[in-house]
Amino acid sequence: MNSDNGRRLSLHIFFFPFLAHGHITPMLHLARLFSSRGVKATVITTPLNASLIPHAGDVHIQTIDFPCPQKTVLPQGCENLHSVPSQDLIPAFLKATAMLREPLEQALSQCAPHCIVADMMFPWVTRSAAEFGIPVLVFNGSGFFTLCAVECMSLYRPYEDVSTDWDAFVIPSLPGEIKMTRTEVGHYVMRNEEPETMKFFEASEESNAESYGVLVNSFHELEHDYVEYCRKVLGKKAWHVGPVSLCRRHTDGKRERESEESNAKHECLKWLDTREPSSVVYVCFGSLTSFPKSQLREIAKGLEASGHQFIWAVATSTKSNNNRDEDEEEWLPDEGYEKRIEGKGLIIRGWAPQVQILEHKATGAFMTHCGWNSMLESVCAGVPMITWPNYADQFYNEKLVTSVLKIGVGVGAKNWSRLERERIEWEAIEKAVRRMMEGEEAEEMRKKAKELACKASQAMQEGGSSLSSLDSLIHHLISSSHH
Ligand code: UDP
Repeated sequence: MNSDNGRRLSLHIFFFPFLAHGHITPMLHLARLFSSRGVKATVITTPLNASLIPHAGDVHIQTIDFPCPQKTVLPQGCENLHSVPSQDLIPAFLKATAMLREPLEQALSQCAPHCIVADMMFPWVTRSAAEFGIPVLVFNGSGFFTLCAVECMSLYRPYEDVSTDWDAFVIPSLPGEIKMTRTEVGHYVMRNEEPETMKFFEASEESNAESYGVLVNSFHELEHDYVEYCRKVLGKKAWHVGPVSLCRRHTDGKRERESEESNAKHECLKWLDTREPSSVVYVCFGSLTSFPKSQLREIAKGLEASGHQFIWAVATSTKSNNNRDEDEEEWLPDEGYEKRIEGKGLIIRGWAPQVQILEHKATGAFMTHCGWNSMLESVCAGVPMITWPNYADQFYNEKLVTSVLKIGVGVGAKNWSRLERERIEWEAIEKAVRRMMEGEEAEEMRKKAKELACKASQAMQEGGSSLSSLDSLIHHLISSSHH
């Protein structure tokens, strides 16, 4: 460590994650990373979300109450995006999170941290913190490619120059000749969301612009052209500090390791131990995306028809309940399905130990919805992907995997929609699995994915690109801190 180490110890940073698993986990990792560099790190969240963080290590957890959800249409105790009972209530939930402003401001005035790292889903934080003279770093939940692509889309609006939704256009100015169709572009990018949601995204953009800078959970070697484009062409102050999940390899994660050991007893990991290297397809669509039963049947049929081994984490309506769904036959193609796939496929009803599955040598491919955390976890494990985006930033992430990095193949999903799921037939699923698991093209993608995994690991070592970027940021914060 360098000479400002003594002062690092007095640097105190608040970390303020959005209220959803996919946001809390990387923010906690980020806090641990700062803490491992000598910074005092405090995660600020609501009691229910704090209880989802069992192993905080050196990171302090401070709770603030989510005031008066009764004043909203949300049910009692709805403090996390996962407990929002239906997609239609998501705008109400986004709006309700603004009620955290007052308790956050109280915590800021009491503790006076030097800086706050806030999720980009809290667009009001930059102004709140400014009242106390505290700089905000926005934690962008996605990568540089998406950040740049979305900015180019809003600057040049190329989707207005095509005559149908299905005509491809190239994203202007963005390196790599990236093609998209209007069907793949998020409604918020085309600015045709309902007014409340649109207001939210606009506020988020403004807050990003007013912030001290952006923290990106990515590494230079993964998307170098876009890191450079972001800084030099778009002129953003952005630091690459990831993959933050690799902080496990830095911090003294004793309690985390203990939990991993108990997780290691998960039957799917024992099952993987008995399989050949790179022979199993892992299928999981993150923590928020679920499919209708008719689509689950297509997935089941497609996986079986591919003839390849698989682990499938199924998000049915009973995802949080590990018991068998009474009407499960409705989402399996027929009654004998599970018997037939015995030894070949494993279905997990509930939460899968995803990182451990991906890191297992028997895992050869990951069918994913292209959530940024899932994608990075796959990259870190050197596992190529079968991509099936649905909404949010997922179509951009897919382009990065398939067109730029060339470590994945798509199932053919084309329709961005938060509410409706486009149907993908079992034949397309079978074809994508075979393409990813058989032949030279698949081998080539697997090799590239493994090379990227080595680079991810190097980026997070002493002197590696991400740790150096983090150190330079800490140095910046120390030199600009006035108290
Ligand atoms: N995840 C998991 N088990 C599951 C489903 C999800 O561990 O059964 C974790 C996954 O490892 C990742 C996160 O949940 O860290 C999902 O985040 P992502 O950004 O991929 O997608 P989101 O859930 O936000 O759509």
